Amino acid sequence: MPTRDQRETALEAAGYNLFGLRADKVIIDLLTDSGTGAMSSAQWAGMMLGDESYAGSRSFYRFEDTVKAITGFTDVIPTHQGRAAEKILFTAIVDEGDVVPNNTHFDTTRANVEYQGAEARDLVNAEGTDPAVILPFKGNMDIDELRRTFESTGADRVPLVMVTVTNNSGGGQPVSMQNLREVREVCDEFDTPLFLDACRFAENAWFIKVREPGYEDKTPREIAHEMFSLADGCTMSAKKDGLANIGGFVAVNDSDVAAQCRNLLILTEGFPTYGGLAGYDLEAVARGLEEVLDENYLKYRIRSTEYLAEKVYAAGIPIVRPPGGHAVYLDAQALLPHIPPYEYPAQTLAVELYRNGGVRGVEIGTVMFGRPDPNGGPDEPAAMELVRLAIPRRTYTQSHIDYVAEVVIDVASEAEAMRGYRIVEQAPWLRHFTARFEPIAPGGGGS
Ligand SMILES: *Cc1c(COP(=O)(O)O)cnc(C)c1O
Repeated sequence: MPTRDQRETALEAAGYNLFGLRADKVIIDLLTDSGTGAMSSAQWAGMMLGDESYAGSRSFYRFEDTVKAITGFTDVIPTHQGRAAEKILFTAIVDEGDVVPNNTHFDTTRANVEYQGAEARDLVNAEGTDPAVILPFKGNMDIDELRRTFESTGADRVPLVMVTVTNNSGGGQPVSMQNLREVREVCDEFDTPLFLDACRFAENAWFIKVREPGYEDKTPREIAHEMFSLADGCTMSAKKDGLANIGGFVAVNDSDVAAQCRNLLILTEGFPTYGGLAGYDLEAVARGLEEVLDENYLKYRIRSTEYLAEKVYAAGIPIVRPPGGHAVYLDAQALLPHIPPYEYPAQTLAVELYRNGGVRGVEIGTVMFGRPDPNGGPDEPAAMELVRLAIPRRTYTQSHIDYVAEVVIDVASEAEAMRGYRIVEQAPWLRHFTARFEPIAPGGGGS
């Protein structure tokens, strides 16, 4: 339990970037739900059965069978995590000058599209960028905008359409089956493949079950299968709804694309029957993908996120509503209206949660998604200024979460006194991981 003084020292050493903290200086770690969950006894037991054959291991076939059964896709290519799946798929099918539509690109997805020299275009429905409006499927794609993108860009320059389920960067909001069907129709019209960024497919399936008419009596597994049946492939980080600490995959129906992906895989990840993973990892993912579709697990998962959201909202703190599946998103723009986007209100709030209570969340705002001005002016702001408190799966207890709520409420009561930050060092892409900051002194002068 680091003291307040120790936390202050740790912040300075990390350049006020919470990614730079040593984890033992964090009390409750809500930085991400990626790979941070607790694995089940069945997963650990499965790891003891790991077959470490270089080629054709039993563990690979167990993994492949599970992914095929859940998704229905014909070709399954393991990768060490989600971004490796993105890199391989985009290297295979995205060219310079292309446009890739998504409801909202996740940070690594955007970076991998841009790395190919293509444009990553976010087409989430207007209500998806309004934190306060209560609607069941705020992750839905704007179908008219999608059609307009095809018409203005030309279908030959749109190599694929992606839909992120749930919409992580947009507040963990789900996408309806109806919306997926409509995206599919547009893709068919322009003869373009549809891929799911499937990291939280099971949470999305649960939201469809409880919110979309006609799905109440279907199992999460049946709903997930229907979601995948509308797509031509997916990328997946098994660190999310794979309930594993590492792993991912690309799955596709097109054997030519699969062949290209496998060739790239051999270059960067490993042989196609392990793809950068140990045999025991493949076992853990295979079991995790089954467990994550358990109705009781999903009910507990979504309810425990909602519990934190209800507590902080009841105290008058602005959050993205309704809460998403894996995280509570605090609306820093609404809480800190005196800090402009280019002074990073969400970063400011995230730093304060750590300073005050050792709670580590993550900025999802202008640091992560804003664009630095090439001439040194203020950054172009992101659509929203959020602090994401991601809940690791099967890890924290209710009393831990009660503590988090107390810290959030305490910090929010001092909102007016907070001042923003400036960036003093940043990388050309994915700058939020390594940027260093400096506090802006009260009164607006430099420090
Ligand atoms: C985590 C995530 C990724 C990237 O996966 P990694 O395993 O972290 O590389 C891609 N898309 C979404 C929506 C994610 O949440």
